[in-house]
Amino acid sequence: MTVIHNRTTLLAVLVILLFSSSCNKQDDQADEIVIEEFERDITYVLPYPVGSSYFVTQCNFGSFTHNNKASFAWDFDMFIGTTITASKAGNVIEIKEHIVDGDNSEGNFVKILHSDGTVGRYWHLTKNGALVEIGDFVNRGDTIALSGNTGFSTGPHLHFDVIYPETCDEKKVNTCETVAIGFINSIHPVPYDGRAFKALPY
Ligand SMILES: [Zn+2]
Repeated sequence: MTVIHNRTTLLAVLVILLFSSSCNKQDDQADEIVIEEFERDITYVLPYPVGSSYFVTQCNFGSFTHNNKASFAWDFDMFIGTTITASKAGNVIEIKEHIVDGDNSEGNFVKILHSDGTVGRYWHLTKNGALVEIGDFVNRGDTIALSGNTGFSTGPHLHFDVIYPETCDEKKVNTCETVAIGFINSIHPVPYDGRAFKALPY
């Protein structure tokens, strides 16, 4: 009999997830049963209001920029000024919102510290697009920001990821290790490229 040695492996075996971890799947492949090699925290909600729906233009392990430590990230295609909501409850710890849309030098963002020590990041926001203040506590689903097109971006969209802040090297870009998460109010907890995902009631 095989002995399962670590918790991650045990969970991966027990939770035969009815979805795939990878991107770029066609719709007819979306329901394939795939056993993930890692554990995901599927307590998050999509970062936009219930009832709205946005296309994923780059998902986890996307070849453009979601690779290496930044693999667990999503890009949602959105017009400038689209309402962004908190994906998980927490305290607002950092905001940047002075950059003008179309300026690719720096991106505006809101960062929220969760109770488990991870930090949710909402990037490329519009100028003055933060609708919260540093120190505010927000619940899951609360309105926090307006999307935009600032920073390293080829068009208006929201980049969302969750990081382990202790892994970040402030002197370098893209050093933060992203957290494997999923969304409880999506038909597919791990949205993939090329289709829209509606935020369902939860
Ligand atoms: Zn991105």
